[in-house]
Amino acid sequence: MRYISTRGKSEAQNFLHILLSGTAPDGGLYVPESVPQFSRQEIASWKGCHYHEIAWHIMHPFIGSDIPAPTLQKLLRHGWDNFRHPAIAPLIQWDEHIWLLELFYGPTMAFKDYSLAVLGTMIDYVLNENGQRAVLLAATSGDTGSAAIEGFAHSKQMDIVILHPHGKISEIQRRQMTTVTYPHVHNIAIEGNFDDCQKIIKHFFQMNDLANRRLIAANSINWGRIMCQIIYYFTSALSIGSTDTDINYTIPSGNFGNAYAAHLARKMGLPIHKIHVAVNSNHIVHHFFQTGEYRIRPAQHTISPSMDVAAASNFERLLFEICEKDSVAVSNFIQQQETGCVTVPSSLLGAIRQEFSSCSISDEATMQMMERSYLQHHYLPDPHTAVGLSSQMQLHDAEKGHNNIVLATAHPAKFPQQIPSQAPTPQLPAHLSDLTTRPERYTRLPNNFAAVRQHLLEQL
Ligand SMILES: *Cc1c(COP(=O)(O)O)cnc(C)c1O
Repeated sequence: MRYISTRGKSEAQNFLHILLSGTAPDGGLYVPESVPQFSRQEIASWKGCHYHEIAWHIMHPFIGSDIPAPTLQKLLRHGWDNFRHPAIAPLIQWDEHIWLLELFYGPTMAFKDYSLAVLGTMIDYVLNENGQRAVLLAATSGDTGSAAIEGFAHSKQMDIVILHPHGKISEIQRRQMTTVTYPHVHNIAIEGNFDDCQKIIKHFFQMNDLANRRLIAANSINWGRIMCQIIYYFTSALSIGSTDTDINYTIPSGNFGNAYAAHLARKMGLPIHKIHVAVNSNHIVHHFFQTGEYRIRPAQHTISPSMDVAAASNFERLLFEICEKDSVAVSNFIQQQETGCVTVPSSLLGAIRQEFSSCSISDEATMQMMERSYLQHHYLPDPHTAVGLSSQMQLHDAEKGHNNIVLATAHPAKFPQQIPSQAPTPQLPAHLSDLTTRPERYTRLPNNFAAVRQHLLEQL
């Protein structure tokens, strides 16, 4: 499989190249030249398969011969070994038509583990084979950082650099990153928000300059992340038994990676009716779906911090596809968006709305949903999942008739401040039980690329 840039000015690359990189040199994002497709019968025949077997079906067409088949199968067989649930991503019934897809059984209790665990073993394998070293770079809105650290914890080939927005993630989220004792992990708190961190990371990839080291992205700008996130749409549809009737997915969204992965699952043949994008009060994407106008506003701090994103990176990938791979149109869109506001033609908006709907949920409504879910359904969701459930409630009746799967993207124990007073505080798992007393290690830096670069040149 070859991968091309959404901005059309970089050469096509193979899978291993894009796995071990970040943005394309032209600033765009890599996407596969074509998307593999499966018939409904083929998908139905995977029923009863283990998570890693479905992973194989989904991933090997994207990887091709870049990783030998027996090696890839072995990597996948052990990819989710340290997860705490035998189904890896279990489905829980919430009411008659609504299921929750629980994606928090990995080591850091948010869905980012599901892709970073296996990418960690895959990237480590490739670097080892080639005798290469690299620096893993990530900006985190709270959960990517710790998942990347755990995914690459035992790598001898990597340095890990994580930028988080100072004071804008939960204490548990921060401590999951800053209390680790691995010497190859470098945590930096940026005096800014997630978008500032993401900009600095993208700047590193465009300059491609950190003392000649190979740079690899852990964010969903890395296509490998998206590929791994397609898997649980297939496993959940199979376990609901819905390979011939259409399902709706409701996806708590920030950087739009998970929602874009759902879109790919649909293109690959999974019968998805609507992808419902649930956002908090950072509603740029929601406003776009409503009006066709994409207007950047600074991110606000909410009680679902992992979704406090203004400029959603993966939106560019969706746009590229909807524009039928017109990289000039995408480049123009990105340029105009950076200067304020851009509106797409109504024909494009129409195409997007065939597949996507959206909803924006306030902090107040999020807290009400946490309480309601606990009291009426005996299920305590985390704030991000509650944004999803609350959006789900606002779907039109025509859409409600389907089977609906809401993604439960994090465990409530990560956000103890938000637990409703009626509910007991959920416990952290044993490996994190002393998290709040462990010493922390991180460096606070201004929101400035040069300052971060200088710091890393001294540290690495
Ligand atoms: C990252 C994250 C999201 C948003 O996912 P995107 O792929 O960035 O849209 C939602 N919920 C939680 C808990 C997260 O960590």
